[in-house]
Amino acid sequence: MPRWCDCNQPMNLEIRTVIFAKKIEVKNVPIFSCMSCSTYEVLKPVKAHLTEYLEAIELSLNDPYQVVFFSDIDEVASLFSDLYKRNVEMDSEKIGDIVEAFKEERINLLLDVYQCALQMNDESWMRDTQRRLEQLSQFQFEEHFSEAG
Ligand SMILES: [Zn+2]
Repeated sequence: MPRWCDCNQPMNLEIRTVIFAKKIEVKNVPIFSCMSCSTYEVLKPVKAHLTEYLEAIELSLNDPYQVVFFSDIDEVASLFSDLYKRNVEMDSEKIGDIVEAFKEERINLLLDVYQCALQMNDESWMRDTQRRLEQLSQFQFEEHFSEAG
């Protein structure tokens, strides 16, 4: 099912650089955008994490301008930027199944990584991997469409 804009045009799924408060440039943010009125919205399942992340950056902000990669800290953003790099067609009607398959693949990979971290007894690595696994397993692409408007 497509995501509809308020102007009644279907919205496209994209990976975009978003600039906040003219001083934080966040790359690899998955968004829905409308080509006819240039409205965009951050994908709902990552929005809270992005807000949290920006607040943390702002608190530690010494540089007048920062460039960060959201895909480095958010598994869902990372998944979408991988899809984008592989030139997977970002058709919101078809992408649900592709995203699910990708998600499975990455979860399996992260489980292997976790085993590795466990064997090396590396606690910060284990925590990091666990956090990534949680982000991924909680992510439901369909969630974005469940809310009207
Ligand atoms: Zn629009």
